[in-house]
This record gives sequence, C-alpha cells and structure tokens, in this order.
Amino acid sequence: MIDRLTVLGPGTIMPLPDYGCSGYLLHWKTSEGERPILIDCGPGTLDRLCEHGTPVEAIEVILITHFHVDHVSDLAAVFLSRWLRNLDKGPGAHRLTVIGPVGLADHIATVSKLNQPWISEYEFDIVELGAGSYVFPNRSRYDGLSLDTVPTGHTENSICYRLTDSEGRRFFYSGDTDYNEALLPLADGAELAILECSMPDEKKLPGHLTPRLAGKLAEKSHVRRLLLTHFYEEVLTVDIVTEVRKEYGGEVELAKKLRSYPIS
Ligand SMILES: [Zn+2]
Ligand SMILES: [Zn+2]
Repeated sequence: MIDRLTVLGPGTIMPLPDYGCSGYLLHWKTSEGERPILIDCGPGTLDRLCEHGTPVEAIEVILITHFHVDHVSDLAAVFLSRWLRNLDKGPGAHRLTVIGPVGLADHIATVSKLNQPWISEYEFDIVELGAGSYVFPNRSRYDGLSLDTVPTGHTENSICYRLTDSEGRRFFYSGDTDYNEALLPLADGAELAILECSMPDEKKLPGHLTPRLAGKLAEKSHVRRLLLTHFYEEVLTVDIVTEVRKEYGGEVELAKKLRSYPIS
C-alpha cells in the first residue's frame, strides 16, 4: 500500500540552503517491507537518499516527469552507482525500471553514450508513457498499484502522475506545470497532492504555478491535503499559505527537505 512520501528536494536549480532539486520517495509498503519509488531525480538526489538512509539498491522504480536538469540529472549517478555495486546481478537482485514521458529512451541513450562503458553495460527497463491509465510495471512487486498520467504542457512531453493503491489511496504529483485544468481529473480527491509553486503571483513565470494558482487547482480538484514544492527564492519571501488559502479551503503545507508526509 501507499504509506507516505518523503521529500528529498523542495527547491529548484537555483541553489538555496536546505532546499535542493526535485526528488521524492513514495513509500510502498508490503508485508515483506518497503519498496520506495523514486519520483524525479534532480542533482543531489543520490546524496539526499543517502542522508535519508535509503540505499540506492532499495530503489527498483524511478518515475521521471520531464527532462529539465533539475528533475533528471542524477539519473546517470543512480545508474552508475548501481552498476558499480553490481546491483543487477546476484541473489536478490532486482532490475531497475525507469518510467517517464515519451523521449525517455532517447534521453537515456544520450546519457549512456557520454558515460560508456559503465552505463551502457548496465541493463535496465525503460517504460515511456503517454496520457493514460496503467497497471504499475513490475506487477509482482507492486501488486494493486496503478498509475495515471496526463501531459502538463510545461514542456513538449512533460507529464504528471497519479498513483492509486488497491485500497483507493491516491497520491498526485504535478511535476512542473502552469495552471492547466487537464490535471484536475488526476488530482481529484487525492489524499495527498504535491503541486509545484515556483514564484509569487506578481512574478509569475510562464509554465509554472504560483501560490494562488496552485490553490485554485487544489480547490477545483477537491484535493484533501496539499503539499507545495519547487520553490524559487522569490516565492519564499511571501506568505505562501495565506495566498493559497484565498483559493483553497483544505489542509496546506510547504514541503521540507527530508520530511515525510503520511498518505491516508
Ligand atoms: Zn521544468
Ligand atoms: Zn523544475
């Protein structure tokens, strides 16, 4: 079952102490223990996994929302560290599956070419998704988990994710996005929704949300608990929660690095 989410990085590519680039761990709990799913993999993710106490070998699945550097650049580091430890071989080894938008295979091929022979020698599964509903790959390891995606329009191929377990718990992650009502059905009623909140309303960047727009999206999709993330320095100078509450009546929090949030 989906148990909780740990924030590895609630910031952007602009360096800020105590923030860091996009990375999240969704804790999938089974009777045999936890199988954390890594969502986005920006620079520094591998270090923060280590700080959190999650070894790289515990990661069997990575979800990527889009190919901007603050969401994807540590993918190569994950591949290489797994290869160095021979994690694809030996008893109890699990293949890594990387899930992402159309273009993921090309992206990984480019990274592999720049890092031969290490990454090209490591074998892993690549799953490219367009808009749709899917049974979670690696079904035997993630029984009852389903995955829905829809394009966000932030980049040509960017997607957001909803994960739903067999007991109906819904977790939604916007990745990077502007205000886009196409996201509403996926975010609808989520027990926990993470929405990006890049800049203050008066300094809005195209392709990104502001506190009030994130609040509007959360309100229209009846999100039960809203966690805001992907903060540039400028947005941290305003009272984000007060701005969000002008649009959204539910529970709202600002994501903190290495903090966990229950999903229930
Ligand atoms: Zn982006
Ligand atoms: Zn970003």
